[in-house]
Amino acid sequence: MKLHILGCGDAFGSGGRNNSGYLVDGAERIFLLDCGPTTLPAMKRAGFSPRSLDAIFLSHLHGDHFGGLPFFFLEYLYESPRAKPLHVAGPPGTEERLRSLFQSMFGDAAEPKELPATVFHVLEPDRQVTVADVRVFPFRVPHQVRDISLGLKLSYQGKQLLYSGDSAWTDVFLTHAQGTDLFLCECSFFDRETANHMNYRILQQNLPRLRCKRLILTHMGEEMLARRGEVSVELAEDGIVVEI
Ligand SMILES: [Zn+2]
Ligand SMILES: [Zn+2]
Repeated sequence: MKLHILGCGDAFGSGGRNNSGYLVDGAERIFLLDCGPTTLPAMKRAGFSPRSLDAIFLSHLHGDHFGGLPFFFLEYLYESPRAKPLHVAGPPGTEERLRSLFQSMFGDAAEPKELPATVFHVLEPDRQVTVADVRVFPFRVPHQVRDISLGLKLSYQGKQLLYSGDSAWTDVFLTHAQGTDLFLCECSFFDRETANHMNYRILQQNLPRLRCKRLILTHMGEEMLARRGEVSVELAEDGIVVEI
């Protein structure tokens, strides 16, 4: 199973990096974790046909994490019709937000047509579901106040992948990281304190308690990138491929 980092930037494109998009190639199933506006071109650049995608899992409904979906819809309507439906799994409200986003972005091109064949799945916190043979356990993380932001623990082909989504530190990560093959964790800041994003200092304090097999930091802002020389944890780069 391979993880292709299609985009490890934040909403600002810090460091010239793509928005969030992580492709898991499990041979029989290909799926995305988050889908920012730059994800479709990055997926093509990585050599994957958009048609090969089985499912997209969304951590939350911020533009840098789900704003790429309308481009996939357009692709499937006009360029690469699908033989089977795309599965889209996200927090409550995903289907409504995506339908209205598609309409806003493409107007007439979206107007007369239904979405390409899509099966929507609602990810409720703490309720495990299986989507396209991928088992996913979503859990709520501290990032938004009213809307739900999720961390996602995925199991496929005997491997486990934990993805923080966007989140401040929470001890819940300790529970879910235990024994996982890879923890892909956002780290927007180096030492700036905020209530909705991680900083490296707090992560560093918790490293001895994190019992995952591998940890990679992602979603880095300018301040974090500027101080990367002081970081002792592996950092994501656009275009790298990680064997899980
Ligand atoms: Zn983000
Ligand atoms: Zn966010």
